[in-house]
Amino acid sequence: MTPKVAQFLRECAPATPCLVLDVDRVAENYARLRAALPLARIYYAVKANPAAPILARLTALGSAFDAASFEEVEACLAAGARPDSISYGNTVKKASAIAAAHRAGVTMFAFDSEPELLKIAKHAPGARVYCRILVENKGAEWPLSRKFGCELDMARELMVKAGELGLDPYGISFHVGSQQTSTAAYEGAIARVAMLFTDLKEAGVKLRMVNLGGGYPVRYRQEVPGIDDFGAAIMGAMTQHFGNDLPEMVIEPGRFLVGDAGVVSSEVVLVSRKGKDDPVRWVYLDIGRFGGLAETEGEAIRYAIRTPHDGGADGPVTIAGPTCDSADTLYEKSNYRLPLALRDGDRVELLATGAYVTTYASQGFNGFQPLAEHYI
Ligand SMILES: *Cc1c(COP(=O)(O)O)cnc(C)c1O
Repeated sequence: MTPKVAQFLRECAPATPCLVLDVDRVAENYARLRAALPLARIYYAVKANPAAPILARLTALGSAFDAASFEEVEACLAAGARPDSISYGNTVKKASAIAAAHRAGVTMFAFDSEPELLKIAKHAPGARVYCRILVENKGAEWPLSRKFGCELDMARELMVKAGELGLDPYGISFHVGSQQTSTAAYEGAIARVAMLFTDLKEAGVKLRMVNLGGGYPVRYRQEVPGIDDFGAAIMGAMTQHFGNDLPEMVIEPGRFLVGDAGVVSSEVVLVSRKGKDDPVRWVYLDIGRFGGLAETEGEAIRYAIRTPHDGGADGPVTIAGPTCDSADTLYEKSNYRLPLALRDGDRVELLATGAYVTTYASQGFNGFQPLAEHYI
């Protein structure tokens, strides 16, 4: 938790549940990432947290943006971003959204299939396009499965076709999965991209850009490799495979830029046991899966939790949200322990919750309001 967030919570005691996010920390993370990968252009993945103060600060710092919908494109433009600094990175877009983005001046679009490529050719003629390929997501705590990307041979064919359709065959992208804890994932993906560059060069198509996607991790309960380790691994692999002929590099960090800038402040609603001698207490918070903690699904992302009694004797707990839905159980298997002194009415903090929380909050399920947000 940054000192600014701690001070805000202490002095303002905002109603819970709420997210408090230190926008200066986002700027610091941006600077750290730039230092770790100075040759890469940063496209912030807006979906991680689309709040206007974040987009405005990143615009001022010279960031570009990865948008997944026309609404996100509009949010970037409203924050002052130039349309040519916005990449429309979703490989699944309505024709009307492609046309709207093209009219707004967006010139870079992603695809991973022929029908999508045809849509882009029709509704954004002449645009720069990049093809997303499938890569291993091993090591990612929030993997993206096979929903996006295509096989290498298909990517090769489609990039040739892109040129024939009057588009600019610009580059190749991948995403190694979110909260990726292994630097090797990027090295393996870069090797695949380099093969494609070579193949396509032989086919007469000279690609110019590698988009390394997102995935850079945040520290939750466990230590993760530092951003410098990712920078070194990525640059090592790029130099190994491309030598002096380095293409333009794009990265699309989401979680890394905003995750550890935010804290969710929550109130304990109830501490109970299922049987008199049951050692496990159930701790119900006023935020749960439907209040924005969607990444607790499968206990994939395990947030660190602070309480006013930290340091005292603790015991095992199951942690759940406040709604009447059994899916609203956050952690049952991840060996969470909380102080025995914890009581209803206590305020607790869930750390590093600045990414992928606010936008996942439901609209009034059980009457609970969506998560309040404070950007400081
Ligand atoms: C979600 C997403 C990102 C951001 O991923 P993080 O793991 O948050 O860094 C980047 N690129 C694309 C295309 C995405 O969909």
